[in-house]
Amino acid sequence: MSLCDLAPTYIRAIAPYQPGKPIAELARELGLDEHRIVKLASNENPLGASPKALVAIEAELDQLARYPDGSGFELKAALSAKLGVGTEQIVLGNGSNDVLEMAARAFLAAGVSAVYSEHAFAVYPLAILAVGAEGITAPARDFGHDLDAMLAAVRADTRMVFIANPNNPTGTLLANADVLAFLEKVPANVLVVLDEAYGEYLPAELQSDAVDWLARFPNLIVTRTFSKAYGLAGLRVGYALASPAIADMMNRVRQPFNVNSLALVAATAALNDDEFIARSYALNQLGMRQLTQGLRLLGLDYIPSYANFLAIRIGNATAMYRRLLEHGVIVRPIGNYGMPEYLRVSIGLASENNQFLQALEDVVKEQV
Ligand SMILES: *Cc1c(COP(=O)(O)O)cnc(C)c1O
Repeated sequence: MSLCDLAPTYIRAIAPYQPGKPIAELARELGLDEHRIVKLASNENPLGASPKALVAIEAELDQLARYPDGSGFELKAALSAKLGVGTEQIVLGNGSNDVLEMAARAFLAAGVSAVYSEHAFAVYPLAILAVGAEGITAPARDFGHDLDAMLAAVRADTRMVFIANPNNPTGTLLANADVLAFLEKVPANVLVVLDEAYGEYLPAELQSDAVDWLARFPNLIVTRTFSKAYGLAGLRVGYALASPAIADMMNRVRQPFNVNSLALVAATAALNDDEFIARSYALNQLGMRQLTQGLRLLGLDYIPSYANFLAIRIGNATAMYRRLLEHGVIVRPIGNYGMPEYLRVSIGLASENNQFLQALEDVVKEQV
């Protein structure tokens, strides 16, 4: 007997999450100079962390021997003031990944199901399968979520629907009016998890209205993160907003000290670093234009994106991914998202985008 057989069948069925390759790993594997490697594989902020967060971290260092504030009082107060929600509506997570898992652990189990879209964020099926629930994949439309198909996929045993808006890895966006119409139609006993990890990259006129919907839809869970525009991916901090009853259930499965003390102070400071968010947004807009123009010159198709990355149609994406690695450029093949012909590239600094486009041109030419 293999010791693996001791794990429940539903755990053995899980395909592990495939993260972007770290720079140090590629440097080791191919003997490349770390400083010449460009990583555009995990949708990280190329500007680094919010400077206000860095100052807050320094001031907190002499407290590292202490446990963090398990209630996250200061960060919740800052979120409450900024967003106009009660602190009892906030659940803090070790990354928003953690709050997605808490939602699954609190409300899913063997015998129930949860719906997500084809080509949606890989963490949803992981969170669903880890608790023995059944995942239902609704077909996508033009690589984006098809809310009608998602509604049709809801069964009597469905407890939760996951919507990523914008979605990763496609960058597609659902209009506020469409998400609202979905909330009005979905059964009131089905929780809707609206994952807004990339919301800060949307222009003002497309920003989410989800916080305003919380009072009307007690089945709504909105999740956000400090990993992307705020530049704090390495610290791991995100949050969920929900009705007090839902937040209470999620907090029951939360590890008591799930958000570390540096992450708490950094996120609190970063939350009001409007200047940094504006700079990150502007850089992303420029980089998006730079990349899309470069791709058009190369004759390559891409999915129009509302986030800080682009899915590019490239043919044999796995082979192209490997060749780009040899050129010192790390991107992400997304065959595991049902898109074997696509590479996902994160928007970087102008110089990084350039290095990517140059390497891409080289490998595309080598191919013909
Ligand atoms: C990156 C990402 C997250 C955020 O993950 P963290 O755990 O907060 O770092 C959540 N949802 C989607 C769709 C993402 O792409």
